[in-house]
Amino acid sequence: MQLTSWKADFLGEVDIPAEHREAIGASRRRRFHNLAPLAAIHGLLNALVLTFAFWAEPVMPIVFVWCYTSAVLVFLRFRESSRWSNRPGAEEDKRIFRYTLASGGIWGLIIWALIASGGPEHLLLLGVLTAAILCVGALLHSSFPRASLAYSGMVGGGAALGLFTGFHMWAAETVFLLVGCIAALQRFAAMNATNDIRRQVSAASLQEAKETVSLLLSDFESHSADWLWRTDANGRLGRASQRFIDATGLTPELLEGGSFLALFAPESAQQLELLMRERKTFRDEVLRVQVGGRDGWWSLSGQPTGDGGYRGVCSDITRSRDTEARIAYVTEYDGLTDLANRAMLVRQLDVAKEAAEKRSENYALFCIDLDNFKAINDTLGHPAGDAYLKIVAQRLRDCVGPTAFLARLGGDEFAVMYRETSRDEAADLADLIVDALLAPVNLNGKDILAGGSVGVAMAPDDGSDPAILMKNAELALYRAKAQGRGCARFFEIGMDEDARWRADLESDLRNALANDAMDVYFQPLVNTRTRKVSGYETLLRWNRPGHGLVSPAVFISCAEETGIIVPLGEWVIRKAIEEAAQWREDVSVAINLSPAQMKNPSIVATVVGALAASQLDPSRLEIEITESVLMDETDHNIRTLHALRELGVKVALDDFGTGYSSLSYLRAFPFDKIKIDQRFVRGIEDSTENQAIVRAVISLARDLGMRVTAEGVEDEQQATILAGMGCTEVQGFLYSRPLPASELEKKDPASRSVSKVFRLPRRRA
Ligand code: C2E
Ligand code: MG
Ligand code: MG
Repeated sequence: MQLTSWKADFLGEVDIPAEHREAIGASRRRRFHNLAPLAAIHGLLNALVLTFAFWAEPVMPIVFVWCYTSAVLVFLRFRESSRWSNRPGAEEDKRIFRYTLASGGIWGLIIWALIASGGPEHLLLLGVLTAAILCVGALLHSSFPRASLAYSGMVGGGAALGLFTGFHMWAAETVFLLVGCIAALQRFAAMNATNDIRRQVSAASLQEAKETVSLLLSDFESHSADWLWRTDANGRLGRASQRFIDATGLTPELLEGGSFLALFAPESAQQLELLMRERKTFRDEVLRVQVGGRDGWWSLSGQPTGDGGYRGVCSDITRSRDTEARIAYVTEYDGLTDLANRAMLVRQLDVAKEAAEKRSENYALFCIDLDNFKAINDTLGHPAGDAYLKIVAQRLRDCVGPTAFLARLGGDEFAVMYRETSRDEAADLADLIVDALLAPVNLNGKDILAGGSVGVAMAPDDGSDPAILMKNAELALYRAKAQGRGCARFFEIGMDEDARWRADLESDLRNALANDAMDVYFQPLVNTRTRKVSGYETLLRWNRPGHGLVSPAVFISCAEETGIIVPLGEWVIRKAIEEAAQWREDVSVAINLSPAQMKNPSIVATVVGALAASQLDPSRLEIEITESVLMDETDHNIRTLHALRELGVKVALDDFGTGYSSLSYLRAFPFDKIKIDQRFVRGIEDSTENQAIVRAVISLARDLGMRVTAEGVEDEQQATILAGMGCTEVQGFLYSRPLPASELEKKDPASRSVSKVFRLPRRRA
């Protein structure tokens, strides 16, 4: 048997953690001293029994002495008991040991004396008494097993001595039994002591842990925005911290003992109840609270407790959730119209695609573009433009109904996704949208006519992938716009090819510009009075590889959309002016400028640079613009036109009569010339209506001091009618097709094609 194990088993001496040693020692001492009255009663009873039993015996004087000594010892013990706490622990332990040894010794002595002198009639009583003293001693001293051993040793030793010195029968056997009894009692005392120590150590550690936890918790509650909660088995709240009380806005009386679930909105309470019913541990559950008139969001964590309740941590996330919701709103919705944005539409298209795959249904995507929104924005200002967009959004909402998904893609573009629909239904809805947009909108007291175009793509026939579907709906929209706006078009396979064709055109166009592979052609303008060429209009030509000579009617719109028009236009300006500088001085050159060129801030500088480089008199340059220039960026463009005019450059309004409100543009800028569109010239000989229009325009221009050129004159009769009406200039295939500069000279006055009528310019020597 190892020493340590022997000490533990019989002396109850085990290692006690240093931090608990003092507290446990004190508790053992307290227990020992608390038993002082019991020890005294035990001693008194024994003394009474002995006095009674040995009253007439010769040993009685010894009993008296013993009684007196015992009484002194008991008195001393009581006195010590009241003072023990003032003494150091180690010293007190020694005193206890000494006291126990002395008290055991006194008992040992009297037992020795009585057994040795007593006759067989007293032996049973003394045997029982010894056993009782040993048992009670083991109990009373069990908190100090070492002292208990000393006590039992003394008592047992006295009894053994008495048996041997009194020459009693069975002395050795009785002593053997006595030693066994003492060993058993000592083992019991030691076990009791070690158990007690262990219990106390674990209780002290638990207390310490509790103190640490409560310290941490109070720190947690005072420093964080979170709070702790606890419920009993019935879901009733336990003690609530101040932070918890503040978060609910309830009084502690209402909160504590109240139902925890009652704090939450019905759907959140249901969610929480389910978790609690299944005794689940949960973390960061986001729940909606409705308490004390407040509406907010809590993030809740909790775990079941041993008593059937729950405890956990809670934090108020109302503010961060509001921010999140705002961020989500901004990323998914359009702030102006409150409609979904493009990103949200794409997500919805994904959802529709999945659903359609499962149920094999058709759905339609409509792309909507407002036709004249830019003009509204420019003429009435951005606030009016915003108001207009809001009205349009509301109209679309009313028109498409709650089952369709409406979004604003940006600017004046909207989109509608319509699920579970057929092509016919989609066509009806597209017409409804077009009609809804055609109705005038009242802005600042004015009725504005804007209108919109619609492109429709059907899924899955025209594609299911959101990007493809969107592209195809946009292709259909381009077609609708190209076909005169204010109408709806469905996507067709050819449109896809058109788009590819356009992409090829764009790349070829860029190459042509980079490789200087373009040409400028010139078409004469003939003065009806002098019958001389008064100038030439510059018309761009492109010999596209594999396609031959391509007209600008084909590629100019592509150049405008892609921005290529700006460098291309600059090149035309330089080339045309360079060429014109070679001509006779009374011959001018006209150059077409598109809206995109007019918007370019460097346009005036480009013109000035080209004029200076070629030394051409600015009055020999004429700029041709169309009405669309005055529809877009009006103020800026009119300033640019004035700047050009101040240089001495002339400005002509081209294709007059093709716009909606042509006459109003004549007031916007004092043009030098109006070019009547060839549509009115074509068939003028037979159409009295065209004649009336042309006559009116010519008379208006005369009143405004403007010259008039008729475009597209193809035969003599037309030329005669126009000249008769007072038209100043004519231009058309009758006189010459557009020609490269090198061929102009060949069209000599002697040449047959224009011989009788015109004198053509000569190159200067
Ligand atoms: P535009 O300025 O109205 O030019 C007149 C167009 O009518 C030219 O077409 C010309 O070839 C055509 N034309 C002339 N006489 C007759 C005729 O008797 N009968 C018929 N049927 N047509 C005639 P083109 O060259 O195809 O140009 C088309 C348009 O492209 C031009 O219309 C002009 O707006 C634009 N354009 C041409 N060159 C340029 C350029 O360098 N820059 C810009 N921005 N636009 C240009
Ligand atoms: Mg022109
Ligand atoms: Mg024209």
